[in-house]
Amino acid sequence: MSAIRPVQAKELFNGTDLDNWRTRDGSAAGWTVEDGIMTVKKGTGDVVTQETFRDVQIHLEFRLPDMPEATGQAKGNSGVYIQGRYEIQVLDSYGFNIPGKGDCGGVYDVHAPLLNACKPAMEWQSYDIVFRAPRFDQAGHEIQDHARITLIQNGIVIQNNVQVTGPTGGAMDYKLNDPGPLLLQDHGDLVSYRNIWAIELPPIGSDTYEPR
Ligand code: MG
Repeated sequence: MSAIRPVQAKELFNGTDLDNWRTRDGSAAGWTVEDGIMTVKKGTGDVVTQETFRDVQIHLEFRLPDMPEATGQAKGNSGVYIQGRYEIQVLDSYGFNIPGKGDCGGVYDVHAPLLNACKPAMEWQSYDIVFRAPRFDQAGHEIQDHARITLIQNGIVIQNNVQVTGPTGGAMDYKLNDPGPLLLQDHGDLVSYRNIWAIELPPIGSDTYEPR
């Protein structure tokens, strides 16, 4: 189910190279690119977009390697870090009746998915993420509303506007009032991604209707 990129969306991965991506320390991204797909290259580190975001919708598709002998966190592990701070887990959790906070679609260690919407390894799956950045007071010191995440996996809502009070483990930084990039995790497993795009969202809702 390769969703077509809407005209409003910004393409984050062009399908041919990783010129738009860096490692955490700013050097060239080392993942493999082939046939419109980027795949973790073990040991080369996480990859990070040049663009940074506040409120945003992110779409991406991922494919997990078939690792029948592996279990738990060693089975097809990667992750999608919104703003480089909040990890939505990518893992082979196919078939679990009650997925936990560390399973696929979990906001890592904070919120378990509402149900298991996973497909088996080697099948393409999609995440559509709606992220609302934390709100601060005028001075930028006090949080007035925490970050919120809605997550649709393979067309099914598995996180419904959940509140996330701080970064998950492995966050790039703790500057919660700053925009941040999209980060994809190298956890040593050969997870693939494709069709990655973002639509920046305005900070408040619109009260007018103006056809584009
Ligand atoms: Mg992970």
